[in-house]
Amino acid sequence: MIDLSGMRQVEIDAAARIATVAAGARAADVIAAAAPYGLAAVTGNCGAVGMAGLTLGGGYGPLTARYGLALDTLLSAEVGLADGRCIVADPVEHPDLFWALRGGGGNFGVVTSMRLRLHPVEKLLAGMMLFTWSEAETVLRRYGEMIEFAPDELAVMAGVLPGPDGDPVLFLSPVWSGELAQGGQVMRDLRRLGTPFFVQIDQMTCGELLGMYDAHVVSGRHYAIETRWLPKLTPDAVASIIAASTHRSSPFSMVALHHFHGAATRVREDATAFGLRQDHFLVEIVAAWEPGFAKDAAMHRQWARNLCQSLAPASLPGGYANLLSPDAWDQIKFAYGSNISRLRHVKYRFDPDGVFTSAIPLPV
Ligand SMILES: Cc1cc2nc3c(=O)[nH]c(=O)nc-3n(C[C@H](O)[C@H](O)[C@H](O)COP(=O)(O)OP(=O)(O)OC[C@H]3O[C@@H](n4cnc5c(N)ncnc54)[C@H](O)[C@@H]3O)c2cc1C
Repeated sequence: MIDLSGMRQVEIDAAARIATVAAGARAADVIAAAAPYGLAAVTGNCGAVGMAGLTLGGGYGPLTARYGLALDTLLSAEVGLADGRCIVADPVEHPDLFWALRGGGGNFGVVTSMRLRLHPVEKLLAGMMLFTWSEAETVLRRYGEMIEFAPDELAVMAGVLPGPDGDPVLFLSPVWSGELAQGGQVMRDLRRLGTPFFVQIDQMTCGELLGMYDAHVVSGRHYAIETRWLPKLTPDAVASIIAASTHRSSPFSMVALHHFHGAATRVREDATAFGLRQDHFLVEIVAAWEPGFAKDAAMHRQWARNLCQSLAPASLPGGYANLLSPDAWDQIKFAYGSNISRLRHVKYRFDPDGVFTSAIPLPV
């Protein structure tokens, strides 16, 4: 393992709308550096996640429907290769490597710095709506129906969180990145999907939004993640999520759904190494437990696996490489879609001895 966490510099060229990001910078570092210029990067939902790992594997986040995945904003990368050379990969220099880095993760070398396209985003309309468990199934079903028609400006994460008394609650977390007055009507429509017992929607910066999500990831807990790609949120899939969440093995466990639509779907599947460009739901199944209860770890992992298995019939093959576990072979082999043979070819050219492996290896 190479620890790059000390390399957190971010430089902004405001006129060109480009951030030059050192390999250890976190999403929050990039957002904080760009904000004074009224600019923002496409990041995931959490500020504490590393920008390099997120971008090389994909990058689903609140601005993905508007501007593409984080990897779609990569303009060039400086890479240390297995043979000791340090090169720049971009659309002109080493275009094959540049293609593979966008979705193929850390399988080709060490990215020491990246240039990322920024976008003009000052304020978002965003927040959280919570619904009681008795109406969770209805609201989740309605969410699945409405989000399929969402415009690029709207991202809505949905799922299950621990409620104040430990029981699960259904959450909708909308983010509107378009014209603010229009966003107000969108939020009112979302409220009508049920009878929320808590609503907080405010104008906020991207930094404040990431801070809101960071609060749900408690440092020091143990986590195990399983993932699926659903083409649609069918009634059976909703029923599986609700049943599993009702019987969670730990009160801290969560489920989150990110809807992939808009700009990210208008990129051709072979334009980058990322494996899936059609509309879909990314399901994150997160088992979470306190370290003092480590003896129960197998049970919590099994809970996540069971939900993953029950979603399998409704799922697309594969899964998001950044969330797959290294033993999920039935999904790993389809994670890169039709791009896998070109990825293997680039791997052979740039790392023939297999010096580098990502969190999940490329399928053989
Ligand atoms: C709390 C949390 C929230 C998350 N939320 C989201 C989300 O909203 N959207 C989303 O898309 N994903 C999300 N993820 C998944 C996240 O994208 C992956 O975990 C990603 O791999 C994190 O990258 P990292 O650099 O922080 O991690 P690391 O563990 O440092 O890196 C993970 C892998 O990425 C590769 N890598 C990292 N840096 C480099 C580099 N400089 N050069 C070459 N390879 C490198 C390596 O293969 C490494 O094994 C989340 C993860 C967590 C833990």
